Amino acid sequence: MTMKTMDSVQAKYEELAALDKKHFMHPTSSFKQQQEKGPGFIFTEGKGIYLKDVRGKQVIDALSSLWNVNIGHGREELAEAAMEQMKKLAFSSAFATNSHEPGIRLAEKVAEMTPGDLAMTFFTSGGSDANDTAFKTARYYWKLKGKPEKKKIISRQKSYHGVSVGASSATGLPAFRDFPSLAPDFYYVDSSIEALKEMIEREGAETIAAYIAEPVQGSGGVNLPPENYFKDIREICDQNDILFIADEVINGFGRTGKNFGIENFGVVPDMMVIAKGISSGYAPIGGMVISEPLKNELIELTEGVYMHGYTYSAHPMCCAVALKNLEIIEEENLIENVRNMGAELQKGFNWLADRHEEIGNIRGIGLLGAVEILKDKETNTRFSEPVSGKVVEEALNHGLLARSIVYEGQDTLAFAPPFCINKEEVDTIISIIDQSLTEVKKKGI
Ligand code: PLP
Repeated sequence: MTMKTMDSVQAKYEELAALDKKHFMHPTSSFKQQQEKGPGFIFTEGKGIYLKDVRGKQVIDALSSLWNVNIGHGREELAEAAMEQMKKLAFSSAFATNSHEPGIRLAEKVAEMTPGDLAMTFFTSGGSDANDTAFKTARYYWKLKGKPEKKKIISRQKSYHGVSVGASSATGLPAFRDFPSLAPDFYYVDSSIEALKEMIEREGAETIAAYIAEPVQGSGGVNLPPENYFKDIREICDQNDILFIADEVINGFGRTGKNFGIENFGVVPDMMVIAKGISSGYAPIGGMVISEPLKNELIELTEGVYMHGYTYSAHPMCCAVALKNLEIIEEENLIENVRNMGAELQKGFNWLADRHEEIGNIRGIGLLGAVEILKDKETNTRFSEPVSGKVVEEALNHGLLARSIVYEGQDTLAFAPPFCINKEEVDTIISIIDQSLTEVKKKGI
């Protein structure tokens, strides 16, 4: 860059930064930090695993932005699918008996991809509203069956289900529930079978509508379930007439190396919640998928109207984009690459652990991985001040955008790179983390 272009690039950044501070309220942000520091990156373009910002800095997007840009950035086919659909029919309603081809085709594709008898999809704009839809529908179902008192929803500690009133009430990370007057009838258990059994015993199965879990927890720190956990969960739910909802918002559409996270654990839920990877973030869309028996019962039992629908339920453009995204995942065998590169990522974590005694627990499946930073592995003691955030800051200087998770006293680095990543790029991520952790240690932790 010449001096002149550098000046104009800086001027553009400053103009946008000033406007950002003045008018742009950011999701999950610190209002104070925004005013003090201004925006870090103002992204302008992306290609593959890379993002570029207005000042020309390029970074590796090691979390696929928000665990969602699964096919990678800059795929023009998706832009073309959006344009084609918008030119033909930008929007029409899916309320009542209205329908459209992209919605129909996408619902068919989801039914084809999901395991077991999952059969019918209600589309939303994202994961939070899809979870709200699942909670409302589960309660509605029990009401239709003459059991309106079956309304409690049980979720797991460290779970993340979104931020709408219902979804944040289900979220097992207390930091997300720091708002007065969330929704009633949500309960949390740890990830043990005993905890769920005790909860059912205490509250009474006749008061519980559904149990919800991410097959592999994402935002809570990339936590895999204990062995056989979901087999037992399935059984307990069946024995107690409790609907089992799998929140596949992060896991779904290949992230764990299978179409859906729950497939790694050999059971089929009654309801599934999807979003993110269905469109790789190219268009906002999510959904609730229900099983064939549930669908049939709803048809049989409902007399009135299911009074639930978002204006943008099954937005035609979003459905068209999602269809193209799923086609690319299939045609380019991206889920196979997830498995192969996931194995490379885990090798990289092990290499890091050999070089740094602070790397504690290593977790992951497919291209969903995490390493925990510990002061003492033997006693599982953490550093008094989290280190992962400092590593992430240092990594940024080396061109890597990674994620630090510090809720619930954790000190974890999480990774979920795009499915199109290659071995060289995985190695680059690992080497930047190695360098960054070394530098953080040099400065003193
Ligand atoms: N469920 C899970 C497992 C998630 O990870 C998220 C978002 O990160 C959500 C639900 C909420 O989705 P959205 O942010 O699209 O509302």
